[in-house]
Amino acid sequence: MSSDPSWKDKYFQELESAEHREANWKAERNVLERMLVRTSLASEGQAPELDRLLARVRADLRKNKVDVVSWKELQEQIDRQVALLDDAPGPSVEPAIKAETATVLPGDTHDVENQSQRLSIARRVGHLLGQLLSQVALEPDAEMSARNLQRALLSSDNWDELRDGLNQVADLIVAAVTRSQREFEAFLKRLDERLEVLQEHFSVQTSVLSGRQAAAETLDRNIREEIERVGQHVEASNDLHDLKQSVGRHLEFIGQAVGRFRVDETAREKILTEQLQAVQKKVAIMEAHSERMQGQVRKERERAMTDLLTQLPNREAWQERFSFEFNRWRRYQYPLTVGVMDIDFFKRVNDSYGHKAGDRVLQLVAREIKSRLRNTDFVARFGGEEFVLLFPETQPADALVVMDKLRAHVGALPFHFGSDPLTVTFSAGLAGFVPDDTEETVFERADRALYAAKGEGRNRVNVS
Ligand code: GH3
Ligand code: MG
Ligand code: MG
Repeated sequence: MSSDPSWKDKYFQELESAEHREANWKAERNVLERMLVRTSLASEGQAPELDRLLARVRADLRKNKVDVVSWKELQEQIDRQVALLDDAPGPSVEPAIKAETATVLPGDTHDVENQSQRLSIARRVGHLLGQLLSQVALEPDAEMSARNLQRALLSSDNWDELRDGLNQVADLIVAAVTRSQREFEAFLKRLDERLEVLQEHFSVQTSVLSGRQAAAETLDRNIREEIERVGQHVEASNDLHDLKQSVGRHLEFIGQAVGRFRVDETAREKILTEQLQAVQKKVAIMEAHSERMQGQVRKERERAMTDLLTQLPNREAWQERFSFEFNRWRRYQYPLTVGVMDIDFFKRVNDSYGHKAGDRVLQLVAREIKSRLRNTDFVARFGGEEFVLLFPETQPADALVVMDKLRAHVGALPFHFGSDPLTVTFSAGLAGFVPDDTEETVFERADRALYAAKGEGRNRVNVS
C-alpha cells in the first residue's frame, strides 16, 4: 500500500477543510451580524429616520433576508443620516469627537467623502465603546485592550487600523454580553437555589397550617415566574442597561413577594403560637385535672374497698383478691389456704357493753390480726364480726399454726370496759385448695370447718 494519500483521501481532506472554512465563515458572519444588531441598537435615539433604517437592518438580519442590492441602498441612506448627524450634532455627541470627524484626509472628493464617513462611524463606535465600558465589567486584560481600542477609534486616521478595531469591537461586545449574561445566569441560579432552600423550608412548615401551604405555593410560583421572566429578559435583551433595570425590578418584585409572605407568615406564626400556648394551657389544666381525678378515683376506690369501721379491706376487696389468688393457684398450683373466722358470743359484748364497745372490740381485733399476718397474707372483714383470710403459698397445716397463735394472742388481750375485764375469743375454719376446687367450694369447706369449731366449743381453729 502506498503511503501517499490517494485521490479519495485528498478529496475528503479538501472537503473537510472546505467545511471547516464554511463553519468559520458562518461563525464570523454570526459575530458580525450580532455586532451589527447591537451596534445599531446602541446607535438608536439620535434621529428618527436613522432609527427607522437601523430597525430595518435588524429586521432583515432577523429574517435572514440580506439582499445585497437593497442593502447597498440602505447603507447609503444610513451614511447620509450619519453625515447629517455630524452636520447638526445632538447632545450625545461630544465636541472632541465632532472636531475629529471634521479631519479630512487628502484625496478625490468621493474618497474624501467616503473616508470622512468611515472615520465618523469609527469615532461613533469608539464613543459607544466608551459608554459600554463604563457599564460593563470586563476581565482586566480585555478591559486594557478595549481602552486601547477605544483610543484608536477616537483618534486614528488609519482606515486599516480602524477596520480591525471595528471587528474587535464586535468580539468585545460579544464577550462583555456573554460574560454579563453568564454572571446574571450564575447570580440567578444562586438566587434560585437560595429561594429553593427557602421554599423547602417554607414547604416543611406548611404541614402545620393549611393556609401556609397555599401561601408558600403562591410565593414559589411568583418567584419562579419572576425568575423565568428575568431569564427570558436576559436571553432576549440586547441592552445591558435595560437588562440591569429589568433584573432590578424583578428582584424588587421577588423581595416584595417574600416580604408579603413573611408578614403573613408572622401572622400565621402568631396564631399558631397562640393556639399552641392555648393548647398547652388546656393540656396542663387537663393533666392537673386528670391527676386530681386519678387521685380521687384511687381514693374512692380505696374507700370502696375498705371497711369503714376496721379499716380492713371489705367484702368487695376480698372478692377481688380471692379471684386473683384463685387464678394464680390455678395457673401455678402453689398451696393456697382460705380461712374464715368469727368472734365468739359477740352478741353478748354488744348486749353487755353497748354497740360502741362492740365496735371498739371489732377495731382492736382487726388491728391485731392485721399486724400479726405476713404482708403476703390477706385479711378482710366479711361482715358483722366475721373475717376472712387468705394464706398464699401456705398449706392448711401451716396456716393452722399461724391462726392458733393469733387466736391465743387475741384471747390474751386485756380488754376493759369500765372496771370489767373482758376476754374476746374467735373460732376459725381453714381449707386448702384441692384439684377441681372453685372459690365457692373451698370457701364452703372453710365455713363448714368454722361451724364445726363453733360446735366443738368455740375458741378453736379447725381445718377442713
Ligand atoms: P357465735 O359465737 O355463735 O358467733 O355467737 P355471736 O353472738 O357472735 O353470733 P351472732 O350471729 O348471734 O351475733 C352476731 C352479732 O354481731 C350480732 C350483731 O349485733 C353483732 N354485730 C354485727 N356487726 C356488728 C358491728 O358492726 N358492730 C357491732 N357493735 N356489732 C355488730
Ligand atoms: Mg357471726
Ligand atoms: Mg360470732
